[in-house]
Amino acid sequence: MNPTPQRIAGRASDIGEGMTVLRALPTRQRRMIGAWCFLDHLGPVDFPAGHGMHVGAHPHIGLQTFTWLIEGEVLHRDSLGSAQVIRPGQVNLMTAGHGIVHTEDSLADGQRLHAAQLWIALPPEAADCPPDFEHYPDLPRWTDGAATMTLLAGTYAGQHMPARFHTPLVGLDAHSPSGGNLRLTLDPSFEHGLFVLAGDMQLAGETYARDELAYLPPGPTELTLHLAAGSRLLLVGGEPFPEPVLMFWNFVGHHKADIATAWRDWEAGDPRFGRVEGDEGRRLASPPLPWVGI
Ligand code: MN
Repeated sequence: MNPTPQRIAGRASDIGEGMTVLRALPTRQRRMIGAWCFLDHLGPVDFPAGHGMHVGAHPHIGLQTFTWLIEGEVLHRDSLGSAQVIRPGQVNLMTAGHGIVHTEDSLADGQRLHAAQLWIALPPEAADCPPDFEHYPDLPRWTDGAATMTLLAGTYAGQHMPARFHTPLVGLDAHSPSGGNLRLTLDPSFEHGLFVLAGDMQLAGETYARDELAYLPPGPTELTLHLAAGSRLLLVGGEPFPEPVLMFWNFVGHHKADIATAWRDWEAGDPRFGRVEGDEGRRLASPPLPWVGI
């Protein structure tokens, strides 16, 4: 029998250029699902001519950024010298660790964009690791009944996504053009979140609409749900983190002092973060640190 999930509604926020972002993690009800500590749903949005997504140079520490592209084309550039276009069906994984800077831009303005951007918190022993960037153009993909499944992270149904993560986790996309039932196998040591990217989902007798998240604590080994025609579901899961991480702006850490140091380093233009070649003019300023005396 399916357990009763916790229903979490994301918060809409406008980040300019007509761009709608729906944030499902962190929320007041739930800060993390396994190491997944941030979940933004971008679009779908049809940018008018002359407009697109343009995010200037900004730093990260203590996390991996994880981009799952559904529609559109986005150019990622970073302080390691990476310049990578991500296209539908692909994943970008950027490990910030000790520090990295990146930019994200629509490849062409006036395009449609639909994506999920997530952050994965690094555990204390990996939080300060060297930065890295990986692009995954081909992911394990198969048909399961009425849905096309894409493995985004971890291991599922005998498939393996080869990226290195620092804590046990899973990520899966299920797309059902015609609709139907879907049975998912779950690792009972993981907590899970089922986020509706498109359409709607019926689970445990309740309907979840687009941009709603159903949270399940560890325990179940399988789950049956129903997807309406045209629905797309994002499953994220992982071993519960021993304690929630601290998050401020684009920084994730285990101690306020580490985040305060990163904040000062960014404000001072410290070489710790490097720079995105030729993009000094679009450097984002950080908000003031919320802690005094650190
Ligand atoms: Mn970023």
